[in-house]
Amino acid sequence: MSEQGGRSVLVTGANRGIGRAIAERFVAAGDKVATIYRSGELPEGVLGVVGDVRDTASIDAAFTEVEAQHGPVEVVVANAGVTRDQLLMRMSDEDFDTVLDTNLAGAFRVARRASKGMIRLRRGRVVLISSVVAMYGGPGQVNYSASKAGLIGMARSITRELGGRGITANVVAPGFIDTAMTQALPEKQQQAYLAAIPAGRFGAVDDVAAAVHFLASDAAAYISGAVIPVDGGLGMGH
Ligand code: NDP
Repeated sequence: MSEQGGRSVLVTGANRGIGRAIAERFVAAGDKVATIYRSGELPEGVLGVVGDVRDTASIDAAFTEVEAQHGPVEVVVANAGVTRDQLLMRMSDEDFDTVLDTNLAGAFRVARRASKGMIRLRRGRVVLISSVVAMYGGPGQVNYSASKAGLIGMARSITRELGGRGITANVVAPGFIDTAMTQALPEKQQQAYLAAIPAGRFGAVDDVAAAVHFLASDAAAYISGAVIPVDGGLGMGH
């Protein structure tokens, strides 16, 4: 990797939640940070290009713009994600397709586009934001957990394809992190999660950002195809 600080970093969905904290952490470290985002306000110092991870053309156009301003992307974080929770029996094709298209195919589109520049640079870091439910499962989350489990196979295949070119691909699997996504869960479900978390608290967005920042660092050069849980122990053994 190059000297840390000053790298071209792209995080999808940096307008809020975990993506915002990740972007802020790279900005604080002196990197050139960009995001592909749909709406909202961005943190100070982040270059925003409007796009939708469900749309290949908008991803390609956004990367072209980011590359023009910051140079080829060396660190890409596929963070954008959605839930459409519903019991299996009642889950519509649309609920399933939207979640897979955003969380799994969206990460694929972003990683594919980023890989072009990384291969030329002969270095790069791909970080995919999965979830504890990829391994643990979650009632009402057949679509979401399938999409997040798919990211593990994706990172490992990228590792096998591009590991020899100085590129790593890893997965971060957050547990219950206090954001809009989890605040939308029923109180009863939130309390059940809390009781199951050995750390005795929900995670903060910075807990996840710290792990992502480490995986993008020189210190993590020999870590690839790994799944790093950031879940206070919730998913141990899974
Ligand atoms: P939020 O719901 O707070 O934020 C989701 C982000 O993804 C928003 O910036 C949203 O943009 C963006 N996004 C969604 N769909 C698209 C799209 N089609 N194109 C571009 N951007 C999109 O969620 P969190 O911050 O909590 O989650 C971030 C990631 O972490 C997700 O992948 C989530 O699955 C994962 N995660 C979260 C956990 C938690 O406990 N919170 C636990 C495990 C994993 P917009 O504001 O425009 O909607």
